[in-house]
Amino acid sequence: MRNIPFLDLKAQYDSIAPDIHRELKEVCEKNAYILGPKVTAFEDAFARYVGAKHCIALNSGTSALHLAMLCLKIGPGDEVILPAMTFIATAWGALYAGANPVMVDVDPVTRTLDPTKLEAAITPRTKAIIPVHLYGQPADLNPIRQIADRRGIPVVEDAAQSHGAKYRGTPVGAIGAIGCFSFYPGKNLGAYGEGGALTTNDDAIAKHARVLRDHGQSQRYHHDEIGFNYRMDGFQGAVLGVKLPHLTEWSNQRRRVASLYSDKLAPLARDGLLSIPSEAEWSHGVFHLYVVLARKRDDVRQQLERAGIQTGLHYPIPLHLQKALGASQRKRGEFPVSERIGEECISLPMFPELSDADAGYVADQVTQIVRRD
Ligand SMILES: *Cc1c(COP(=O)(O)O)cnc(C)c1O
Repeated sequence: MRNIPFLDLKAQYDSIAPDIHRELKEVCEKNAYILGPKVTAFEDAFARYVGAKHCIALNSGTSALHLAMLCLKIGPGDEVILPAMTFIATAWGALYAGANPVMVDVDPVTRTLDPTKLEAAITPRTKAIIPVHLYGQPADLNPIRQIADRRGIPVVEDAAQSHGAKYRGTPVGAIGAIGCFSFYPGKNLGAYGEGGALTTNDDAIAKHARVLRDHGQSQRYHHDEIGFNYRMDGFQGAVLGVKLPHLTEWSNQRRRVASLYSDKLAPLARDGLLSIPSEAEWSHGVFHLYVVLARKRDDVRQQLERAGIQTGLHYPIPLHLQKALGASQRKRGEFPVSERIGEECISLPMFPELSDADAGYVADQVTQIVRRD
């Protein structure tokens, strides 16, 4: 029987191992363990890749979201709008800053923040809007920015799942005031440990973020404000520097897997048995995940497992139903699209090295199982 993992990081490591080893050795020989030349070189390369003036390398995507809030002077009493369907870290930045996250439902087709629901969530206290480019697909930024710009509310892009995705031909992460990226190992561009970055075209925000990530010091041992230890370490800078030149090719491989899945699963979608990802005409996605929606989700997953296919759940509980975000004061039915994704989502195996044969097997098994049920 086949055994198809949900994600295979080893395959990618094998393809670049000599370069990785050489770069890591150099970090050791130069004792450049925190920030240092590898991190600076990666910051420059990544800024160029996303078309941003500045990239500030950090120790996680969560730190990027936190610093984004602080750089925008967001604090207690403020509200930050974000989608109900996302990874919880999208909300942590606002919460760490003392602000209140305000959820909005997602669009059933793009599965990203629904611009038609945005206006109703805005209050005089709204200080930022965080669209999430979920699963590697850009959110519909133009209508979101139109609504935000009219009121002078900054847009912070959560691009943790979307390195290199394009919205109307422009890479995400430098379209809003700030972009937040994660280099968690399983992300499209993954470090060999924790990592993240903040991108911006604004000189003042970039300068402030650099101070905040390094104990609030602009000059050594001069601490002008409360800072954090959010620095990227040298090993991660080295690994990311080796990987970045491959990223476009890896994204194209993900797109190959996605289009193979979509071709084979289209008949199920047409018969209303399965919902599959679709790319809007303005979207160039990088398929961090390939998420289908199926009724009897748990049963389908179990049968896939028996056929040797590992799957994931992204994400089973929308933010408004999380205890940490006050689920007890909330009710089901508030954000129906996010709730449906939570109940029916299955993430199929997705990584650049997944072969056509294995992807074809996955799609055939999904088809058989869903038709049988
Ligand atoms: C991974 C992720 C984050 C957080 O990144 P970390 O590096 O794990 O802190 C934030 N938002 C989204 C949408 C993510 O997928």
